[in-house]
Amino acid sequence: MARTLGVVVAHPDDDAYGVAALVALHRTDPEFRFFLVHATDGEGGTIAEGSGATPETLGAARRVEDGNAWRVLGVPPYRHEWFGYPDGGLPDVPFDELVDRVAVVLGEERPDVVATFGPDGITGHPDHIRIGEAATSAFLRFAGDGGPGFRRLVYGGIRQSVIDRWNHRRVEAGLTAWDPNTVYHLRGVPDDRIDIDINTSSVAPLVRRAMQEHRTQWNDMNDTESTEEQRLKSVSRETEVIAWPPTRPGRVLGDVFEGL
Ligand SMILES: [Zn+2]
Repeated sequence: MARTLGVVVAHPDDDAYGVAALVALHRTDPEFRFFLVHATDGEGGTIAEGSGATPETLGAARRVEDGNAWRVLGVPPYRHEWFGYPDGGLPDVPFDELVDRVAVVLGEERPDVVATFGPDGITGHPDHIRIGEAATSAFLRFAGDGGPGFRRLVYGGIRQSVIDRWNHRRVEAGLTAWDPNTVYHLRGVPDDRIDIDINTSSVAPLVRRAMQEHRTQWNDMNDTESTEEQRLKSVSRETEVIAWPPTRPGRVLGDVFEGL
């Protein structure tokens, strides 16, 4: 049984964390394949010292970095769409246009599972929230139409109890706690909303290696507040909310394809 995953994100490092780990888990599975949509090139991001990028070249550099990271993971997407919208500008793109662009790709590929951002955007980033809304609208055009695919829509989400633990550590270290009302701060979803909890510890070292390919984003990939052990732990578990179908599985699943 073929299992196709469609990943729809905003920036070329949104796929470096949780999604990378859950895809890497399937890297030796001959039935698995995945495609990737990036709405922007991330040209408005930070530029790490020594990466060689400039504000003019950052978008192109990040496309290359993202491809390099997937090669390290050993499971490059069979299709990779770059929409090239302005980084930070997704809320200004006509919503119908954004939905249409995502829907073209989804309609051609008819994935079994689509993964994107939920309404929290993980960090509240307006681009994350908007691409998640567009991917959801595009998914719902096909879900239940009687054709193949479109069996599950999932949103990446972090358990609130995990955020609470991180905040406790941050405060102890003299840092400010993540504030869910501040954009770019991590935020959680209620623990009982998590439907899928994937143990990705076996691929965590690989994911960490792939993250290093995002050279222009080195500072984000290697936050100085954490030890390498803590960074490994942060990519050792991937949690997701099932947004569609509306009936929840009644138990926590161990993979995005489980039960389909
Ligand atoms: Zn992002």
